[in-house]
Amino acid sequence: MMPTAASKPNLFDLDRAGLARFFTDIGEKPYRATQLMGWVYHEGVRDFEAMTNLGKGLRAKLAEHAELQLPEMQVEQRSKDGTRKWLLKMAGGNAVETVFIPEAKRGTLCISSQVGCTLDCTFCSTAQQGFNRNLTAGEIVAQVWYARHMLAKEAAETGRERIITNVVFMGMGEPLSNFDQATTAVSILLDDFGFGLSKRRVTISTSGIVPRIDELRETTDVALAVSLHAPNDALRDQLVPLNKKYPIAELLDACRRYLADKSQRTTITWEYVMLDGVNDSDANARELAKILTDIPSKINLIPFNPFPGTAFKRSPNARIQRFADILVARGCMVTTRRTRGDDIDAACGQLVGRVDDRSRRAQRMEKHREEATIMPLKKMRVNRAQATPHA
Ligand code: SAH
Repeated sequence: MMPTAASKPNLFDLDRAGLARFFTDIGEKPYRATQLMGWVYHEGVRDFEAMTNLGKGLRAKLAEHAELQLPEMQVEQRSKDGTRKWLLKMAGGNAVETVFIPEAKRGTLCISSQVGCTLDCTFCSTAQQGFNRNLTAGEIVAQVWYARHMLAKEAAETGRERIITNVVFMGMGEPLSNFDQATTAVSILLDDFGFGLSKRRVTISTSGIVPRIDELRETTDVALAVSLHAPNDALRDQLVPLNKKYPIAELLDACRRYLADKSQRTTITWEYVMLDGVNDSDANARELAKILTDIPSKINLIPFNPFPGTAFKRSPNARIQRFADILVARGCMVTTRRTRGDDIDAACGQLVGRVDDRSRRAQRMEKHREEATIMPLKKMRVNRAQATPHA
C-alpha cells in the first residue's frame, strides 16, 4: 500500500526490515533500504536530494512519500568533566535528555526511551515529572544520530575526537514499557548499516518487568542491566514500587533465563543506588551477595544523586567502600559508578527533560497494563509538592 501524504512515515522509525517493506510498498527494490541507511547513519545525510546513488526519480518519490524527521536540538550543556547533555524537543512540546559520558577508552551515550516515566521509583527525579508518552523508535535513534553529529562538530572545533562506543538505555523512561519502539531502535543501533555497535556495548536497563525480560530474550541480544536497589522485597517494595508486581525471586528467575538462553550473554549488571541509612548496611550487602550467588553478575553501586525535594541522602564514601568490600569478599564483581556531569544535572536519576504530565494515575493505569497493580507509595515518599523541575 502506498503511504498517503497525510501519513508520511518517518524513516528514522524503521529498521532495515521495516525499510525493506517500505521500499517494496512504494514499488521499489528492498535493497534500497541499505543504501538509504548508509546515507543516513554512515554519512549523516538526511536530505533525500543529496542521496546521489538513489536516482532522481526515486529521490522525488521519497520526498513525496516519506520524511526523515528529527526532533529539535534545544540546548547543549557542557560539563567541566567532558560530559555533554542535550535537551531534545520532541513533537508535542515535550523534551527529553541525552547524556554523553567520555572516558579514557570509551564514550557512553545514555539515552531516553520515554517522555517521563510511569514507574514512580522514589529516589528518581524523572519519576517526579510524571509521564507523557512513549518515544518513537525514530526519536530514540535520533538521540544517537544527534549526539554523533554534535560530537563531530565539537571535534572539528577542538581537534579532540570523541566517539560513541556504548549506548545505554539509562536515561528517562522504562525501555521495556516501550518495548516495540525500543527494540526497533536497538536493531538500528546494532545493524552494520545503522550505527554498527557491538551487542555487548548496547545495554537495556530495566526496573524489572519480568514478562518483558522474557520477550527481550527472544527478540534481541543485548546486555541487560537491572535496577535492583534492594536485596529483599520489603525494602524493594519501598524503593521500586514495580516490585510489588514482580518480586525479586521472579525477577532473578527471569534474569537466569536471560543468561541461559545465549552463550554470548555472560552477565547481568545490577544497579544499586546507595541511599544513606536506607539500603546501605553491612547486612544489606551480605544479603545482596547471597541472592546473587548463582547468577553471573556485575554489581554497579551508584552513589545517590540528590535533586530538589528529595528526602534521600547519598551514602558516605566510606560506607559505599565498606559495602563494596563486603560484596568483593563474597566473590562479587563490583564497580562504583563515578558521578559524572553533576554540575549540569546530567548524573543518574537527574534527567528530567520537560514533561507535560498527562498521566493522572487512573489514566496511567488504563494505558499501561504493566504497571496497573502498583499502589501509590506511602512510606518514604519524596515530597512531590516541594520537588521543582530543574531542567
Ligand atoms: N527505567 C530503567 C531505566 C532508567 S536507568 C531502569 O529503572 O533501569 C536509570 C538508573 O539510574 C537506574 O538504575 C535508576 O534506578 C538510577 N537512578 C535513578 N535515580 C537516581 C538517583 N537520584 N541517583 C542515582 N541513581 C539513580
